[in-house]
Amino acid sequence: MSYRPIVNKVTEASNNDKDGLYEFMVNMEDGTQTRVFYQRYPEWKLTNISRLLRNPCPICRKDFICKCMDNFTADIHNQLIEGQFLEHAATK
Ligand SMILES: [Zn+2]
Repeated sequence: MSYRPIVNKVTEASNNDKDGLYEFMVNMEDGTQTRVFYQRYPEWKLTNISRLLRNPCPICRKDFICKCMDNFTADIHNQLIEGQFLEHAATK
């Protein structure tokens, strides 16, 4: 599998700061859009990821729900942490 998602843009979609629950819209450089859920405490933890259905999946080419992005949660998480996307997106 040669596909690798490259995080391009992150925006906060919703949050429950009290409980440390966050929802981010994460756009990849290839146009793939995902919705990513995080638990902030004690440290940022990716709890769920789903691909928006506006574009076909870049991996399996389906235009309906698939689980391909689940294979990249660690990679995407690392990019979000290293790029400090989460801190920026979660701070207004
Ligand atoms: Zn897929």
